[in-house]
Amino acid sequence: MDKTVRTRFAPSPTGFMHIGNLRTGLYAYLFARHNGGKFILRIEDTDRERMVEGAVDMVYRTLATAGIDYDEGPDRDGGCGPYIQSLRMGIYREYAEKLVELGGAYYCFCSKERLESLHGENGTHTYDKHCRNLSADEVKARLDAGEPYVIRQKVPEGVVSSYTDMVFGEISVSSEDIEDGVLLKSDGMPTYNFANVVDDHLMGITHVIRGTEYLSSTPKYNLIYDAFGWERPRYMHLPPIMKDASRKLSKRFGDANFEDFLAKGYLPQAIVNYIALLGWCPKSNMEKMTMDEMIEQFDVDGLSISSSIFDETKMRWLNGEYLRAMSEEEFYRVSAPYIAKSKVGGKYDDRIIAQLMQTRVDILSEIPDKIDFLAEFGEYDLNMYVHQKMKVDLNVAKQAVKVSIEAVEAVDEWNETAIKEAVVAAAERAGMKSGQVMFSMRVALTGQPVTPGGAIEMAAVLGKEESLRRLRFSEGLLEKAE
Ligand code: GLU
Repeated sequence: MDKTVRTRFAPSPTGFMHIGNLRTGLYAYLFARHNGGKFILRIEDTDRERMVEGAVDMVYRTLATAGIDYDEGPDRDGGCGPYIQSLRMGIYREYAEKLVELGGAYYCFCSKERLESLHGENGTHTYDKHCRNLSADEVKARLDAGEPYVIRQKVPEGVVSSYTDMVFGEISVSSEDIEDGVLLKSDGMPTYNFANVVDDHLMGITHVIRGTEYLSSTPKYNLIYDAFGWERPRYMHLPPIMKDASRKLSKRFGDANFEDFLAKGYLPQAIVNYIALLGWCPKSNMEKMTMDEMIEQFDVDGLSISSSIFDETKMRWLNGEYLRAMSEEEFYRVSAPYIAKSKVGGKYDDRIIAQLMQTRVDILSEIPDKIDFLAEFGEYDLNMYVHQKMKVDLNVAKQAVKVSIEAVEAVDEWNETAIKEAVVAAAERAGMKSGQVMFSMRVALTGQPVTPGGAIEMAAVLGKEESLRRLRFSEGLLEKAE
């Protein structure tokens, strides 16, 4: 590429960070970094009615958590600021007036009532260009008289506006199908249609990367670039992410929020990795990728033109891969809050519980359910001891529990290796199979049909004292059963 690539992410602070928006930002970031370019954050807050309090902070927080680092933005000046649209009002007015002078726009004084009278059957209307040819004198007189006005785009007649999208190829729209839309509203606010062009130009954006909802309006925006005599940027439009074959992922269904997934116990890097694959397939076909690997491999050829389906099961799987690849220490750090939230919080050694969980969960929020049983122990169904294959019945179980008590009592240093050695040795002395002892011991320690981990792991978590207390309780139950 002959000039430095500059891409931008331009979220509107209208709520939480939708997965689809985040993916757009991620691709713009990957593309800039892959090409050694700059990545810019711009806040598009001109739609004051849709603004949500705190949403701007959420954008910063999300990008930081997701590891998407921008070079320029509201808090990182790069000489093209301000990077918040509501602080650029003077700029839009200046350029709208300039565009009028250049013949690419005009003042329109039509009243609301007049515009409403143009309504078609479906409630929409196309502006009839009523003010397009007012004389310069009339315009001046009406402006001087303080009449309210908007500035509209003067779409050239009889042309076809075309461009080549880097993902979708050639897109053409005939000027007959383009309305003389409003660029600057009567309150001085720009429309998106105008602001995106002015800002992308002034911020030196070389590649505009955004959702397909803008694919077919882009010819209209290009006419504004042309009227200014500005070089058009290149475009990459991205298809939507779907919930299923017919429904887009949507804020409204609350099923697409980055922070919700974090709260569910997904790791940010796993979410980012997963969403990178929604619409992009690297040549290497790699799935689990670090940010650096994604940057290195990002290529436009791998972008898909069809929409992708968000598959939470797959994201869960990927998250599990991330969890298992962590060091014990890292896993302990991320899982500790979930252990603390469970019923066993603080009762046992959290590090041992973390070790037990690392291979057994795909997302961290599964942890409490998997360990809550450790906090509860009481009467249980003795049929759990009956295991035909292992030839365990209540009598064998009673023996086995006695053997386990003997073994556990003899352990000084409480760790899995020592507990295991003691149990194996005690089983041997008693002439029992260690499998039988361990099976019975696991039931006796937990009173559960299934547990994450066997007798030795359960004993390690519970500690010597609690293990003995439970084993003796179970011994009592088995004796009563005779
Ligand atoms: N503010 C627009 C949005 O959130 C950005 C579109 C663009 O990237 O140009 O949809």
